[in-house]
Amino acid sequence: MKVLKFGGTSMANAASIRKVAHIINSDPSARYIVVSAPGKRESSDVKVTDLLYECIDERDRSGVCDAALAKVISRFGDIIEGLGLELDLTPEFNVIRDQINGGAGKDYASSRGEFLSGIVTAKLLGARFVDAGDVIRFDMEGNFDSETTNCLVAERVLGNERVVVPGFYGKMPNGRIKTFSRGGSDVTGAIIARGVNAEVYENWTDVDGFMTVDPRIQKNPQIIEMLTYKELRELSYMGANVLHPESIFPVRKADIPINIRNTFNPSAPGTMIVPTKKFMRGEYKRTDRTITGIAGKTDFAAVYVEKSLMNSELGFARRLLKILERHNILLEHLPSGIDTMTVVIDAAAQRKEEISAVLREIKEELSPSSIEFYEGIALIAVVGHGMNRKTGTSARVFGALAAANVNIRMIDQGSSELNIIIGVENADYQKAIRAIYAEFEGGNGN
Ligand code: ASP
Repeated sequence: MKVLKFGGTSMANAASIRKVAHIINSDPSARYIVVSAPGKRESSDVKVTDLLYECIDERDRSGVCDAALAKVISRFGDIIEGLGLELDLTPEFNVIRDQINGGAGKDYASSRGEFLSGIVTAKLLGARFVDAGDVIRFDMEGNFDSETTNCLVAERVLGNERVVVPGFYGKMPNGRIKTFSRGGSDVTGAIIARGVNAEVYENWTDVDGFMTVDPRIQKNPQIIEMLTYKELRELSYMGANVLHPESIFPVRKADIPINIRNTFNPSAPGTMIVPTKKFMRGEYKRTDRTITGIAGKTDFAAVYVEKSLMNSELGFARRLLKILERHNILLEHLPSGIDTMTVVIDAAAQRKEEISAVLREIKEELSPSSIEFYEGIALIAVVGHGMNRKTGTSARVFGALAAANVNIRMIDQGSSELNIIIGVENADYQKAIRAIYAEFEGGNGN
């Protein structure tokens, strides 16, 4: 039995929701359905969730929410009419208006898109509606409470009938609605999958799967047929975002694979995300590949610290990292040599004065022989478990970059051999990605 989650584009209008219903109705094992709020119908459109945030802004500005809520009402009106449903959401909208005008917060307002979307979907499918507020629990600090939730899902969702649960939100012990971060219906889907112990969590979106590389950089890249949670984590950390990053945790605990599918091309197999490498040798086999995907981000900065005999100075790295910690700066990478250490940080997320203070304190407290600061560095992650069985992978990566005339500023390869991280100038970022892609996917064999 499966959990199927449908994203905002799939829920955007009556026509797409019909496709959703068709997918569900053609699969007898499609038992638990999680839905997003209606998303954009075309690129210039506004998501229902954003309209609901607008309701709060409007109330704060003018005392009442009116125009923004009218847009939400009209979006749902079109959907219900388009689906030919006999469903009147007036009582729900009256409650929502009263709550917002009575002072309800952003989490309450934004959660109503999923709530209403769930009611519509349940009606269309003839399925049981279970309010996420009754099963997804957060603690008083707003942290997700997985154990209580798990019991509630087993108690209130699990069963033989088809159930629809709205994504994105749950409740705190005091009854207040709390949402996950944006895109959080993916997380709800994963939580339900764990709670009902699904064989697979299908995440239906509007692309054919995870791509080997960003399609804005490389036209028509290959779809990744299968990847592990670890590979996914590496790729999403570097900006490949099809799935909310937190959705991995609940399903990983229960060894449940995630299948990314396309509502608008349901015959495509999509991308299978599997728990461990071992899994791939069992039920899920993938074709032998050296690299699984390439991802990257621009605008990093590197602090390069050199000190003779650094390797014999006890606690050097700790003191260096303490300085970053003091300034609340996250460390992204730490490539090091015998007498050198490079601290890579996300420069875009830092204030200039903070960085200057860090450089000053490193000089004062660690007396390095030299310290340099470089900005405008792009990091590229070449990811794949396949690398550790194949010699010459890095040579191919570096060869491809040399042939494309890309200067490599930094290299970092973890001992797990799951990835190679390469730092290049921002200006070379796209060229470098295309060169690596061409090397592995352009006919030389992956
Ligand atoms: N509707 C929410 C958002 O737009 C959550 C989701 O779609 O997953 O972020």
